[in-house]
Amino acid sequence: MSEVRIPYEAKEKDLKVMHVGAVPAEERPKAALELLGEMLKYKRSLKLYLDVCTHCGACAEQCHSYLGTKDPYNMPVARVELVRRVYKKFFAPGRSFLRAWEGAKDIDQETIDLWYKYFYQCNQCRRCAIFCPKGIDTAEVTIAMRELLAHLGLVTKFHAGIVKNMKTTGNNMGTPLPAILDGIEFLEEELKEETGLDIKIPVDMEGAEVLFNPSSSDLFTNTDGFMSVAKIFHKAGVSWTLSSRIAETANFGLFFHEPTMREHNMKLMNAGKDLGVKRIVAGECGHGWRTWRMFTDTINGPLPFPVVHLFEEVLDYMRDGRIQFDKTRNPELITYHDPCNYGRGGDLMDQPREILRACVQNFVETTPTKEYSYCCGGGSGILMDEAMEIRMALGQPKAESVRATGAEILCAPCAICKAQLPVVMNHHKVDVKVKGLSDLMGRALIL
Ligand code: SF4
Ligand code: SF4
Repeated sequence: MSEVRIPYEAKEKDLKVMHVGAVPAEERPKAALELLGEMLKYKRSLKLYLDVCTHCGACAEQCHSYLGTKDPYNMPVARVELVRRVYKKFFAPGRSFLRAWEGAKDIDQETIDLWYKYFYQCNQCRRCAIFCPKGIDTAEVTIAMRELLAHLGLVTKFHAGIVKNMKTTGNNMGTPLPAILDGIEFLEEELKEETGLDIKIPVDMEGAEVLFNPSSSDLFTNTDGFMSVAKIFHKAGVSWTLSSRIAETANFGLFFHEPTMREHNMKLMNAGKDLGVKRIVAGECGHGWRTWRMFTDTINGPLPFPVVHLFEEVLDYMRDGRIQFDKTRNPELITYHDPCNYGRGGDLMDQPREILRACVQNFVETTPTKEYSYCCGGGSGILMDEAMEIRMALGQPKAESVRATGAEILCAPCAICKAQLPVVMNHHKVDVKVKGLSDLMGRALIL
């Protein structure tokens, strides 16, 4: 068992934004049991996953978290077993019989510590689910268990800080509106200087066709990718706008707190409704995309307009001839990283490849690839500095699969992957530059 762990350091004041309070340590086992009992009543998938595992072991070697750390508790089956053994003792049918021979276990503070430690070393990537003959999706168990831990007040300061930033500013980075508007003015000047054209970045334009919702890290730090999107809308002749209320496609609620996810979705839906747009276009963010595509209709009610991904929107422009690319502008050997929440969680696997074929000259797949691709190791929001040792271990299988391609550029069109992969590649000494697909589209776009 590894000694490495991510500290849970959110304090009472950090937790207030989620309307949860810290449960005193001595009361946690009883409270955890009650929360698990409640959860089992409405999360039928959790109960099913706890019931049907045959311990066949087919998932064990398929988790990059286990491959990178060699910690047996990071095997998907062992991770879930940390909950299953409590379930067996207190909730499973025939539990008095099971108790005698199947490792059913009481709950204590050590159990809760192990839950925290190992459910925060799961990237919720869903790779294990591809290999499980019973269809057990450990990512779903992780999401449920992190939610339970949050209700005990056990949350990282990093995650709590992001929830607070979203509530106060509408973006994860906590950038206030005046600074956003200054930044946008600066980007418009940059676009003018680069292209000689008046390419506008509208904010709160009522009646625009599209509300574009970028990840805030693209708007504020990976600005080349964001400016590429502005160029594409300009060239395609589409009226578009940002919202001053929300400039964040990432949705950390998916990782550990469903009410936060719901609130974030609602904010975006209302922004779109009030501006009267025809559709929302989501920028480069894996889990944010999964949230919009897979959860919003269910947990927020039917959407009043479609939410599409930027890549689907761009493919439409390509197919009807509104934009063209010159692939000679991307001559390097380029490989593609499937963000887990696109490929295994959001029906977005072939679309980015179709765009890549149009805008780069030399493309090579990693092995494994597509739905079998390894996670970057930062998924589920494990991006905090205090988790650096774990992050580098979790990213190791991905680093080796990229090294084997010999690629000069790794295209990774997700905000979390773009934050994690440069550090991982550097740590494992893989000489490759990490870029979003928007960057490559922007370079190749014929204006
Ligand atoms: S592959 Fe599925 S059934 Fe087999 S041990 Fe893993 S979770 Fe259990
Ligand atoms: S979801 Fe991913 S990180 Fe989590 S147990 Fe499965 S393979 Fe491992």
